[in-house]
Amino acid sequence: FFIALEGGDGAGKSTQAEALAEWIRAKGHEVVLTREPGATPVGKRLRSILLDVSSAGLSHRAEALLYAADRAEHVDTVVRPALERGAVVISDRYTDSSVAYQGAGRDLSPTEIARINRWATNGLVPHLTVLLDVSPETARERFTEAPDRLESEPAEFHARVRAGFLTLAAADPGRYLVVDAGQEPEAVTTVIRHRLDQVLPL
Ligand code: C5P
Repeated sequence: FFIALEGGDGAGKSTQAEALAEWIRAKGHEVVLTREPGATPVGKRLRSILLDVSSAGLSHRAEALLYAADRAEHVDTVVRPALERGAVVISDRYTDSSVAYQGAGRDLSPTEIARINRWATNGLVPHLTVLLDVSPETARERFTEAPDRLESEPAEFHARVRAGFLTLAAADPGRYLVVDAGQEPEAVTTVIRHRLDQVLPL
């Protein structure tokens, strides 16, 4: 079973990913908790290219392809093998991040970004995608470290990313759970667990 957590920077994805992993493990399942970009050795190198402020001015198409390359490596070497042995995979970000950031956020076509990623992942789609939706203002208050290259983008960029995620969710309500991530983390976890109780073959 494949779960993706999506949302803007500061939405609380990693906190929720850890809480869910612990909960599912306690039910006796193998859980692989992973993330994009940067879950593999090559991915770590791609992540540092992508997020370093010295990459300012990186071509938008090159950026889209580097995220897709990270994802291809992640799916082939981590996600698919785990799913094949029956593990529950929780990924902190997946394809929809690219459609929202490189598609809606940049000047690229979301449809083309989706197509590139379908190829990169060989068509692997999560069973459930949880969108942690929060206003960019609330999210920014949660930053604890110096912002990376993408976090340094202006507020309008983050507003387009947020709208991009919401459009994806509206188009595919069967796969998506949208949660108000402005709530306390415990309240967010409760909403996600409720949905998982209904869909997870546990
Ligand atoms: O979630 P995490 O902080 O690890 O993501 C790393 C950075 O990459 C974030 O700043 C996020 O905005 C950016 N990102 C992106 N496009 C993606 C995935 C992540 O711009 N497809």
